[in-house]
Amino acid sequence: MSKIVKCELYLKNISSLATCANPDGRPKAGAALLDAGEIKNGAVLVSEGKILKTGATAAIEKYLADNKIAPEKELDLSGMTVTPGFVDPHTHMAFAGSRENEFAMRVEGRSYLEILNAGGGILNTLRYVRNIDFKELYSQTAARVERAFMHGTTSMEIKSGYGLDFDAEIKTLKVCRKLAGKSPCTIVATYMGAHAIPPEYKDGRGEYIDLMINKVIPYVARHALAKFNDVFVESGVFTAQEGEKILAAGKKHGLIPKVHADEITCCGGAELAARIGAISADHLLMASDRGLEMMREKGVVAVALPGTLYSLLSKTYLDFEKLMKKGVAIALATDANPGSNMCINMQTAINQAVCLMKVPPAAAVNMATINAAHAIGIAAERGSIEAGKFADLAVLEGPSYNYTAYSYGVNHVKFVVKNGALYEVKSQLRKIWRKK
Ligand SMILES: [Zn+2]
Repeated sequence: MSKIVKCELYLKNISSLATCANPDGRPKAGAALLDAGEIKNGAVLVSEGKILKTGATAAIEKYLADNKIAPEKELDLSGMTVTPGFVDPHTHMAFAGSRENEFAMRVEGRSYLEILNAGGGILNTLRYVRNIDFKELYSQTAARVERAFMHGTTSMEIKSGYGLDFDAEIKTLKVCRKLAGKSPCTIVATYMGAHAIPPEYKDGRGEYIDLMINKVIPYVARHALAKFNDVFVESGVFTAQEGEKILAAGKKHGLIPKVHADEITCCGGAELAARIGAISADHLLMASDRGLEMMREKGVVAVALPGTLYSLLSKTYLDFEKLMKKGVAIALATDANPGSNMCINMQTAINQAVCLMKVPPAAAVNMATINAAHAIGIAAERGSIEAGKFADLAVLEGPSYNYTAYSYGVNHVKFVVKNGALYEVKSQLRKIWRKK
């Protein structure tokens, strides 16, 4: 007796279906990074929230006929592109306030570290986050996450790190936990008490590190408030040695290390990420060759954040070709944050990776999906369009992912599929007033 196959959703005639499949289960590196697993005139079958089958539409039609399956809902996607739902593996989405004035200062020539030392930067946002109540921080963060979802992001990482004292860090992580339960977007949280030294510990950084190690990290782990522990290793922030101590403490409590590494200066962040067994090292503009090689050896995913460099008015970007030649697996993220990249849109990140880092569009799509899923440890279930994985998809206007990279500044997403549920993204022009 054959098993009755149920199918609730059938996407067919997709002009370009970028599966981003990685059958070997490893993040894509080297030549594999250039292959988005594209199927022309493709189709996807969804059953019970998961992907049942993918292939060319003709083959899927035959499968449906042979098995007498009648999908409950069909969508004809001629002229459209389908990719895995975007995974944004590096965000600071849980914040309050905005810093457009610092952005204007930067345009006038003030540096990031200068602004930080003048009481701006992270410490500016810290005041907002400490003073806001849980409900308001939740509603502001939820609105951002919803907007990202409308732009095709179906999974994201969110870091704490704007509270820096016990109460405000825990408040932020509880916002993430509530969002994980309520938002259609998959949310994974990262504790990042080591984002900056809070002002009250300006002359006692050792005490602040002890507070994280002895009080906050054990609490975060005990209450399962975060999966990862991240440190900002940078001159003027935390040294590699301090970062190692904080990440080792997190590891002892089951938190997986991540590193903000070598963003502005070369200070051993990439090496630390490899040594400590981090899942990813992010930024890396100034990382040493040795550091990058160590990352490849240990399987640390490099997360590129071109939007941050763009917003910081940088003239240089992470060298994609060098990383690719070294065989380092590269992912892409927005780094959404109020200071150095006020952008939640992964389509923009793809455009920036292509235009500023010279990443071929196929590689940019892999970086924004399957490799990003590896950077936050969810690649076994999400990040590519493969039978058995959750049905998380972005349906974009335009005949291929090349179009996604090429046309920018508007939202191409028409539908989002999340765990098999279909969402329509609508924007309509409506005249609401006219002088009589
Ligand atoms: Zn960051």
